Amino acid sequence: MYSVPRGILAVAVVLISNFSGTEAFPQAINFIRHAADPLPLAKSDLGRAYCTDRSASEVHALRAPTTAGGEADSPCDTPPVSVPRVNPCNPTSLAPIGCAVTRDVVQESLTAMGKPGQKITRARERVLEILQSGNACSAWFREKDPNSASTFRTLNYAVDHQGEVVVHVLRDTGPQYTYRDPYVAKVGQDTGAFATITLNGGGAFFHVQATTLVGFKEGGLSTLGGPRLINVGPYAGDTVAAQTLVLLHEFGHVLNLLPVDFDNENGKSMQNTAEVLRFCRAEVESKVRRSTFSATLRGQGTSLD
Ligand SMILES: [Zn+2]
Repeated sequence: MYSVPRGILAVAVVLISNFSGTEAFPQAINFIRHAADPLPLAKSDLGRAYCTDRSASEVHALRAPTTAGGEADSPCDTPPVSVPRVNPCNPTSLAPIGCAVTRDVVQESLTAMGKPGQKITRARERVLEILQSGNACSAWFREKDPNSASTFRTLNYAVDHQGEVVVHVLRDTGPQYTYRDPYVAKVGQDTGAFATITLNGGGAFFHVQATTLVGFKEGGLSTLGGPRLINVGPYAGDTVAAQTLVLLHEFGHVLNLLPVDFDNENGKSMQNTAEVLRFCRAEVESKVRRSTFSATLRGQGTSLD
């Protein structure tokens, strides 16, 4: 448990790197910061275990029509361990309301998003594959939520079209530079099932590079610089590996499996990314062609391994 307020925290993936010398050899380090969650969802145990002993109509009313649904592995078929005494899918009771639905409404929403939705879909399916099979990554998530795949399936997605799109390059008085990438994603901490992951439309989930904005730490005018590659952990932006890592990291916050890393205080976000990779790296990379990896792997291994 954490002492932070629930429902008001969000998580974002950004990148900062420092280096001395020329820009040709950056030593990039990634971190994830929090920002005010524009779509706070009140924490509720209902979210995690939406097949509870409350009436299905009440549960689904709370969660809005877009969150109904379930597929072959609907949690309604296997009630969460925390609420074992009622199976709302009992055909004599609530099945017509909440459990006979075979539509994947989240998928339908993603399809309606167009190209961004296709990218989210690709990563979402990859994460579902990982969580539904036996591996170190799925075992890690199941420690917190035995039905983690089903919980993940309920998550919604939004694209922040107003998010930051530039890499801030801050020059110190000396030869030091600091890079801060646009955030990649954010979600409320410990929000459980039906939470919404917000992805920055200008971040590394969707893009492999971003424009730089160069300024001085002490203030003054900033000037536009050239484009710069942006990454998620060790992976190039806009790759399946990067997108999969983003969703796994955010899901770690949804389940409160990862601690809050608001604004990357004390490098918490990097630690969290490293923690995800420690359990999930093999699965993230298992079906990803090596050619999708970023050349910017150089210099980042130290902070992530
Ligand atoms: Zn985080």
